[in-house]
Amino acid sequence: MKAIFILLLLCLPLLTVAQPNYYYPSAKNLNKNIPTPEEFLGYPIGSHHTRHDKIVEYIKTLDRLSDRFVVEEIGSTIGHRVQVVAKITSPANHSRLEEIRKKNLEGATDIPIVIQLGYNVHGNEPSSSEAALITAYYLAASEDEETLKWLNDMVILLDPVYNPDGRDRHTHWANMHKGSPFVSDPLDREHNEAWPGGRTNHYWFDLNRDWFLGVHPESRNRMKFFHQWRPYVMTDHHEMGSNSSFYFDPGKYTSNNPIVPAYLYDVVHPKFAEYFAEGLNSIGSLYFTKEAYDKLYPGYGSSYVNFYGGIGILFEQASSRGHVQETTTIPLTFGFTIRNQFYASLATIRASIAEKDMLRKLRKDFFSSAMSQAKASPIKGYVFGEPKDATRTAAFINLLLMHQIEVYELGQSITANGKTFEKGKSFVVPTAQTNYIMVRSAFEKDITYRDSTFYDASTWSLVHAFNMPHAEVKGAFTKGNLLQAPSKSMMPVVKSNYAYLMDITDYNAHRAINKLQSSNVIVRTSFKPFSIMNNGVEKNFPHGSIVIPVQQQKISADELYVAVKEANQSAGVDFYSVETGLNSKGVDLGSAAVRTIKKPKVLMPIGVGVSGYEAGEAWHLLDQRIGMPVSKVDLLNFSRINLNDYTVIVMVGGTYPSDKAMSDKIKIWVQAGGTLITLKTASEWAIKQGIVKEKLVAIDTVKNPKRVDFEWAADTEGAKQIGGSIFQVDLDITNPIGFGYTDRKVSVYRNGRTFLQPGKTPYNTIAQYTASPLIGGYIHKTDIKRVANSAAVLFAPEGQGRVILFSDNPNFRGTWYGTNKMFLNALFFGSLISLPTNFGEEE
Ligand SMILES: [Zn+2]
Repeated sequence: MKAIFILLLLCLPLLTVAQPNYYYPSAKNLNKNIPTPEEFLGYPIGSHHTRHDKIVEYIKTLDRLSDRFVVEEIGSTIGHRVQVVAKITSPANHSRLEEIRKKNLEGATDIPIVIQLGYNVHGNEPSSSEAALITAYYLAASEDEETLKWLNDMVILLDPVYNPDGRDRHTHWANMHKGSPFVSDPLDREHNEAWPGGRTNHYWFDLNRDWFLGVHPESRNRMKFFHQWRPYVMTDHHEMGSNSSFYFDPGKYTSNNPIVPAYLYDVVHPKFAEYFAEGLNSIGSLYFTKEAYDKLYPGYGSSYVNFYGGIGILFEQASSRGHVQETTTIPLTFGFTIRNQFYASLATIRASIAEKDMLRKLRKDFFSSAMSQAKASPIKGYVFGEPKDATRTAAFINLLLMHQIEVYELGQSITANGKTFEKGKSFVVPTAQTNYIMVRSAFEKDITYRDSTFYDASTWSLVHAFNMPHAEVKGAFTKGNLLQAPSKSMMPVVKSNYAYLMDITDYNAHRAINKLQSSNVIVRTSFKPFSIMNNGVEKNFPHGSIVIPVQQQKISADELYVAVKEANQSAGVDFYSVETGLNSKGVDLGSAAVRTIKKPKVLMPIGVGVSGYEAGEAWHLLDQRIGMPVSKVDLLNFSRINLNDYTVIVMVGGTYPSDKAMSDKIKIWVQAGGTLITLKTASEWAIKQGIVKEKLVAIDTVKNPKRVDFEWAADTEGAKQIGGSIFQVDLDITNPIGFGYTDRKVSVYRNGRTFLQPGKTPYNTIAQYTASPLIGGYIHKTDIKRVANSAAVLFAPEGQGRVILFSDNPNFRGTWYGTNKMFLNALFFGSLISLPTNFGEEE
């Protein structure tokens, strides 16, 4: 009763008093021709969650009514929601905005300072976008002297919603469960979203990791806009647990990125913090700094700009997650959280104006430090290229170009670190370039860390994620042309009366297989290598190469030719036409080693307990890169599924129920011929449920633990987690899971603690961690012993079927192009793996 009484008191001012008094008590002159968000929306800010389309409509209304606003559409999301940025400045500045933009890129100092305010990258942290609305209103309507000065001296880029699809998922959830009166009970459905929640985007990816990876359109559009403008300041507004207060930078000292000049962390952040403190002090709000949050990884909205000589600022507000929620003190209202975010926005503007000389110095020093770091480095360039995989190489180059890293064709073939890189097939990134700090971030695996607990990854080397052959060049090299975009030459498909062949080393090979199978083509794969003579030159086809005979098809030779051409167009991979089955080397095309690939029909259990990220990564891969439908079935419906309708089950990491009915159902299906693919903790589950007989590496509990003071518990235990590091495995490239790999040594990403023992037979450890496997990043000394020589990928034959167990997630963040292939091989070729029947007999 008492709680409800307090609640009513808290809500009263919000619902009945005109908005300006709560949000901007000190505003003197507000232009009456500009509608407040309340007038526009028909409800007070904080009393309802504002839909994304209404946010866009309001921002566009300000564009129409105010000569301070110009709105640009920078793209749209997977869910067809438009991404807008409002460019806010004085009418005089607007008349020369393009000139300001260009001069800003050149580093001019006699122009208004450019900053960006960004909101709601996590869709279910909604106070930020509501604060964006009132910030936009204030900048459009305020006639106060201070505001006029801001508009005169700044260009403010305001992006109200970084993650429109996630924002709307949460918005609908909060609004559809809203009570009248509000229900503050934390257990109420309003405060507890259904799986997977609104944090992520359409494919359940965390967009606040994607600034570096650019996997999704939201990020790619934003990165393009960022590089057109290069603001000095970028904010990133978030929410955290309801019982917390408010956070602003500086962050944890030991989590500062060591290759970014320290002036940012030591001087600029503390200075800006004074303004944030002043803003929040004025309304009595509590806050903290320095104790948490990481600035290491370049892919956060609050860190990306740090790698281009700016300051990224993280704000975290305790979440009301819903309209009002009880806490350990008084109920936290949505309006209160919005007001803090709004005050942080205004404080950012105040700080940026007052400290603009500091910001100019930050940028200038950053780029001169980058150039002197580059000069001092023994590495003169990074050479790379995978001539046998044009798709993967192009994707890697695209990513470098997205970060405005200069990439050149290699002018002359060179040998570096024992590897030869050929002119015409290789590329080089010189270290002597403006964006050297970003170059290092993309290529280095050991950016020194000063801490052992990680909020996220401890390494993010892109060159390893792409499993890209590369080397550091310490001597001279010759540059060719500067690349604007990767180019690709494709061989036209010649009609065959006998067979078409395809090498599967290209990343898009599985896309081509899927396209062919969807056109009703029977596709085969060769378990043994062979060679053909092609225009007088011997062409080698390694293990796994694709064979498509023209006869023994359900479709005619003409239809087949069309289907092959379509696959070639869709996937950009080459097909060779042959008129004979007699090969120059290796097996012939009619060999028993050439086996028919069953068209996969994939089921992926999802729902509460399953990792939304990992499920989303598998879904995104199959949807976007392969073009294959995948049935995502909620675990709650598992008992109703007829598993015989599927050939492959993918179980990503998660906490699955120790439900015997479920595991028996899967076991029977596997025994009857199904292919089960398990990742990370799903592999543990399959072992513990007895679906396979493989074993985990034991993790013994320490008998007499050393005594440690309570204060250090979090740090000590945190140091045992694997935040994300890169390791080397040895891959059996004659096993179908290794098909299409050119090198046995492959980099894998590990951020979990599933340790698999090597297989029970000599043949079923498909990928094994090497004896000293750590390539880059942090791992606790006890875990490195567990990882060394353990199995990374196992194959377990069970009855007519098989289980393929991964200790890690090969699809991490949509960026591990290097390991996606093992996963796709498991999916397409898994059903073809078997061991000889007499296996296990004594020799
Ligand atoms: Zn967040």
